[in-house]
Amino acid sequence: VVLADAGQEVGSGTLLAADSQDPLQKKKKKIVILGTGWGGISFLKTLDCKLFDVQIVSPRNYFVFTPLLPSVTVGTVEARSVTEPIRRIIRKKDAEFHEAECIKIDPENKQVICKDVSELDFERKPEFALDYDYLVIAVGATSNTFGTKGVDEYCHFLKDVEDAEKIREQVVDIFETASLPHLSPEVRRNLLSFVVVGGGPTGVEFSAELHDLVHEDLLCLYPHLKDNVTITLVQSGDHILNTFDKRISQFAEKKFQRDGVHVKIGCRVLEVTNKHIRFKSKDTGQLVDVPYGMIVWSTGIRTRPVITDFMKQIRQENRRVLATDEWLRVKNCEGVYALGDCASVEQRKIVEDIADLFKVADKDNDGYLTAAEFVSTMEGVRVRYPQIDLYMNHNHLKGVIGLLDEAMNAGDQGTTKLDLEHFSAAISKVDSLMKCMPATAQVAAQQGTYLAHSFNHSAQGKPAEGPLRIREQGHHRFHPFCYKHLGSFAPLGGETAAAELPGDWVSIGRSTMWLWYSVYASKQVSWRTRALVMFDWTKRFIFGRDSSR
Ligand code: FAD
Ligand code: MG
Ligand code: MG
Ligand code: MG
Ligand code: MG
Repeated sequence: VVLADAGQEVGSGTLLAADSQDPLQKKKKKIVILGTGWGGISFLKTLDCKLFDVQIVSPRNYFVFTPLLPSVTVGTVEARSVTEPIRRIIRKKDAEFHEAECIKIDPENKQVICKDVSELDFERKPEFALDYDYLVIAVGATSNTFGTKGVDEYCHFLKDVEDAEKIREQVVDIFETASLPHLSPEVRRNLLSFVVVGGGPTGVEFSAELHDLVHEDLLCLYPHLKDNVTITLVQSGDHILNTFDKRISQFAEKKFQRDGVHVKIGCRVLEVTNKHIRFKSKDTGQLVDVPYGMIVWSTGIRTRPVITDFMKQIRQENRRVLATDEWLRVKNCEGVYALGDCASVEQRKIVEDIADLFKVADKDNDGYLTAAEFVSTMEGVRVRYPQIDLYMNHNHLKGVIGLLDEAMNAGDQGTTKLDLEHFSAAISKVDSLMKCMPATAQVAAQQGTYLAHSFNHSAQGKPAEGPLRIREQGHHRFHPFCYKHLGSFAPLGGETAAAELPGDWVSIGRSTMWLWYSVYASKQVSWRTRALVMFDWTKRFIFGRDSSR
């Protein structure tokens, strides 16, 4: 049953083949892309726009290279160096861009309603509707305040270029204000108290950048303020960088301790007022009020209202994020795809289908699988469950045979026949490698490329080569999306960084920072931004950071 089912599901990964293969159907299908961030742009860059009628909607007419935003907050890199105009990206593509915000998705009429975002003086801002055949939602997410009082009013977020520029301006403003004569020492100290909430990669990187700015540049320019600056990092979990390897988070904590960054671990922020931020230690229950000059809030993400509204329309109201299947198709909604931070992929576990799988595989119905039956079954469903390949790569197993060896040896003594119990035990090990995909640029970019490839190939009506590995059996079959983690970096300031690379490889230190520079230079979307970013880094090495407002 499931084998057939699985086959069918893979088959239904055929995205648009049916109608676009019709030679009479000359009219191009309309694709509307919402968002020009990591997901939207990687989709657009790979999509063959000649095959479709492509329209892009985003309230920002540029792409932001978000990993460098923390550098922008202190002027290590200029804001203009991390953005690429959309008009430049599409200048050689057959696509149209509209600078507007999507305010409503109407799946019933296959329409999106958009509204102008310009600051021009209109009595009523222009609104317009766009029809689509396929909608690709990549609107990202907003900052999550967890409903904490005062955050929206008094804290900075760090999601977009404007946020980074505002932070940069305020840091300098604070230093200049604190230098004015006749300030009481207390006021000066409070002004120079910087608080960062959130010990994830962004919060940690921002704290490190701020520390570098203060110690490498500002203290020479404002020597009189030397002993008044404090940086406090508040983290609700037990460690900072807790998604990283333990060695990295320990190193980061030690480094911050040496640098004099106060790390408050296990603390939950209760409220922010115009004077202080109040948090509670989970262990001691103690309440602490810290006066501040500036707070940067970076504790995670939340679904945008336009998506929440859309979820209500398609019976997904009880979920936290928009759910898609492994082909990135939004559940309960035909022709709509979603990727990046605004959606999450529901990956199917093999264990959920185990009984059916076993029944089909066990041809003679005696309750045991032979080696041959096991191998052919696993080969057959490999396309459907990407975790099988993931597991084999992870454990350096040679093909499905290696998996068989493991399964056979799983019990007390080796066996030559597998019963359901052994089979489940082996399979649940395979499933255990499946992880929720993180909300990162890496995931969004891979999803965009994947989806564009599958659109291109089904529109051309020809079999695909390369990363998609489509199997042809009457119709195209697409592999489900499978995320390949290429590693992650955490710059920790003072020209040191930590990196976690595939294969449990951890590297920390100055050479890792150079690796960071080269990786982030190579990941730039264009030669223009690559040149700008490298120029900014060089400029900083020679002249230090610019401290003018
Ligand atoms: P986004 O890139 O956020 O793009 C969303 C797009 O949708 C934007 O263009 C936005 O203007 C547009 N939009 C918003 N609302 C609407 C609407 N109503 N209608 C139409 N368009 C809309 N990830 C990494 O992998 N490595 C890193 O080092 C890293 N560092 C980061 C540092 C910072 C400071 C931040 C904030 C994030 C970082 N990330 C990093 C995470 C990464 O940026 C996100 O995961 C990624 O941007 C998600 O891509 P996306 O396309 O889903 O959303
Ligand atoms: Mg996007
Ligand atoms: Mg972006
Ligand atoms: Mg076109
Ligand atoms: Mg049998």
